[in-house]
Amino acid sequence: MADAVVIGAGPNGLVAANHLADAGWEVVVLEAEPEPGGAVRSAELTLPGYVHDRFSAFYPLGAGSPQIARLGLERHGLRWLRAPVVVADPGDDGSLALISSDLEETCASVDAFAPGDGEAWRELSAWWGGIGPRFIDALMDPFPPLRKGARLVGALGPRGTLEFARFGLLSARRFAGERFRGSGAARLLGGNALHADISPDAAGGAVFAMVLVGLGQDVGWPVPEGGAGALTGALVARLRAAGGRVVCGERVERVLVRGNRAVGVRCADGREVGARRAVLADVGAPQLYVSLLEREHVPARVLSALQRFQYDSGTVKLDWALDGPIPWAAQGAARAGTLHVTGGMDGLSLQASELERGQIPGDPFLVVGQYAHFDPSRQPAGHETAWAYTHVPQRVLGDAGDDGLTGSWDRGELERMAERMEARLDRVAPGFRDRVLARHVAGPRELEGTNANLVGGALNGGTAQLHQQLVFRPIPGLGRAETPVRGLFLASASAHPGGGVHGACGANAARAALVHARLRR
Ligand SMILES: Cc1cc2nc3c(=O)[nH]c(=O)nc-3n(C[C@H](O)[C@H](O)[C@H](O)COP(=O)(O)OP(=O)(O)OC[C@H]3O[C@@H](n4cnc5c(N)ncnc54)[C@H](O)[C@@H]3O)c2cc1C
Repeated sequence: MADAVVIGAGPNGLVAANHLADAGWEVVVLEAEPEPGGAVRSAELTLPGYVHDRFSAFYPLGAGSPQIARLGLERHGLRWLRAPVVVADPGDDGSLALISSDLEETCASVDAFAPGDGEAWRELSAWWGGIGPRFIDALMDPFPPLRKGARLVGALGPRGTLEFARFGLLSARRFAGERFRGSGAARLLGGNALHADISPDAAGGAVFAMVLVGLGQDVGWPVPEGGAGALTGALVARLRAAGGRVVCGERVERVLVRGNRAVGVRCADGREVGARRAVLADVGAPQLYVSLLEREHVPARVLSALQRFQYDSGTVKLDWALDGPIPWAAQGAARAGTLHVTGGMDGLSLQASELERGQIPGDPFLVVGQYAHFDPSRQPAGHETAWAYTHVPQRVLGDAGDDGLTGSWDRGELERMAERMEARLDRVAPGFRDRVLARHVAGPRELEGTNANLVGGALNGGTAQLHQQLVFRPIPGLGRAETPVRGLFLASASAHPGGGVHGACGANAARAALVHARLRR
């Protein structure tokens, strides 16, 4: 018996557990996998001495999140490292658009595409600097964020609020077109929108892009020294120091409910763990309502709305051990931590439309990571530990490429997709393939097989598109951590504000559990 049982030791589960333990609760976290971390883990996937981030890798949201900052993880072993260039977009023509930790370098980069765009970027940066941090702070709160929202509106004033509301509806393409003349700034905005799961042509893309761009400028896109697992290590160490426990290898298969109140869980091995005050579920909304709860405890309207729940696209991820740095054609790309290989705004639109139409992208958009130049602890000297991922449809209807891939994602299909991705990378980094010492490929099935929340290889616990955000996340009417069962809270990325390692979903669930326990007393 514990005060609270947390199902799942992903970052949201661990942040929730830390907040509850800080409030003096006895907390146990039950994790299905042999190790904690969810999509924040690292391992030697290829060769000894090369530490790969198995899932997530760069943490602008983690470094910018008040919920994680409050935990003081640096005191528990976390050390953030930052690349001098935050994110860069290398073109097939050798051009490079980049966001640097130095604003002037960012401005010079976009100005090289169209004189005047540097000044326009400086203005954009000043505008966002005045409101972005307030907006992100409000976004991380339970929806609607009344106090912080009011503060944001107060700071914007009536006219500014209207302008901001309009900006919130813009696509990345439209926003870029209104502010910039050249393709460099457009590539940066479009790439960051699609990185966040929003097509460059879809409403809401501009604001998502600006969250990533603004954080990049303010806090960078840092990585934990030694691998993503170090972030999980710090969360677990902090929790243990506060008296909490993490038990791995325990898959929860049922939330126990008595009198419409969650009273504990039953694990796959039959073990039951009671919860005096709350159960917090760091699992996908469909898993919680369809599998973990008995049908009689879930209102029919919830089950019906869940049929429309949309997971974000699937993912194919490659990890490489390289015998040297990636040989980028574009000068300056070697100084970046993360890169977007986009094919420009039109390339991004094409990819997004292929995904919408169930087509496996023929010329895939790549998110790429490299570390050696700013975290030498991850690979032998002079070598590189790199990765790239791209998205594929959840339901494949065809292949926009020439390989006739069907979406079976068996070993043969994954290898052919890997070759397509490597060929794409080779166009912006000629000779890349000659550097590969070993490669690890994970497709939708492998990702879900190592973390049940990554359904079909979805990264975000559900699409981030507007129809499934804010009050609509995970379904209309359940926009907060509370569920129809008393004492049961949704703590995963399926809840507002969604995917990414910011811990806000977990912190919001913990906060709700504490408030309800207080009211109950
Ligand atoms: C390939 C990839 C790359 C990404 N890149 C980034 C990035 O660079 N930066 C970033 O900020 N975000 C990134 N993300 C997204 C981010 O990792 C997730 O949004 C985040 O991890 C969600 O946290 P969570 O705690 O909600 O869920 P998860 O991290 O998925 O953790 C859920 C945990 O619950 C466990 N679990 C599930 N069901 C049960 C059960 N029944 N019983 C017990 N345990 C259970 C799982 O095993 C897992 O450990 C990436 C994700 C992926 C997959």
